[in-house]
Amino acid sequence: MEIVVIVSLVLGVLLLNRPVTLLAQRLYNRHQFKRFIVRETFYHSVVSRHLNYYNRLGLDEQRKFLFRTYLFQHSKTFRYIEVEQSAEMPILVSAVAVQLTFGLEKFKLNYFDDIFILRDDYHYGFYSRPFMGHVDQTGIYLSWDNFMKGISNQTPNCNVGLHEMAHALAYVNFITQTEEDKHFKKEFPNFSKVARPIFTSMQQGGAKNLLGDYAATNYHEFWAVAVEIFFESPVQFRHELPELYEAMATVLNQDPLSFIGGSTTIIRRPQPASKRADTSNL
Ligand SMILES: [Zn+2]
Repeated sequence: MEIVVIVSLVLGVLLLNRPVTLLAQRLYNRHQFKRFIVRETFYHSVVSRHLNYYNRLGLDEQRKFLFRTYLFQHSKTFRYIEVEQSAEMPILVSAVAVQLTFGLEKFKLNYFDDIFILRDDYHYGFYSRPFMGHVDQTGIYLSWDNFMKGISNQTPNCNVGLHEMAHALAYVNFITQTEEDKHFKKEFPNFSKVARPIFTSMQQGGAKNLLGDYAATNYHEFWAVAVEIFFESPVQFRHELPELYEAMATVLNQDPLSFIGGSTTIIRRPQPASKRADTSNL
């Protein structure tokens, strides 16, 4: 009899685990959404001033974008090293992470609790060359002056924020496996089928393309550089490496060129009509 009770309890916990987790998540999001709404105008003013990507979205998607930005920011501790902090900093860094993952369901890059913002180029470990940013087990590191140059188009094809978030996205999906996105993980092998031969031709054959020599350093850098150029120069990317562009659009589930075609939606995955960009549809 006891065994029946224990088995029933275990089964009950297993069966109810997911619905209870989803309900808790929903309630948490609803609570956070109320707090976000009060701050939405400020978030809009900051993000719209700096992110062209955001300005091209439709109104519902802009709200979804800002709410994700708010949730991302509040899931992290931002640490400032020799740089004067401002209210804009965590919002813009969060917004760039949200840009990268906007076509995915999972967007918080869970595992990384800390984001470090430094003033400018810095030295890390035993490397002789200065760093603009990096990701390791202790957090995501970004230099603020390079970050701002990246989002204000002062450095063509270079966006250190997107670059480091691309490393972080791969990290949480494949290394720590702490926030796996089903679509991203399913599609990444298909991306690699296209990307690996291009990477190998660059690394071993010395092939040149718009990704540049740094992308040939290793496959992690190839991925992060390809993400940067996908968003920074989508027209040239699709023209020069069409199959890789398509593979990137598929794995990230978004296509920056859909903006240029006049479409206001970037999500390829169909969404139920009843869901709006509010607490339930992040
Ligand atoms: Zn890198």
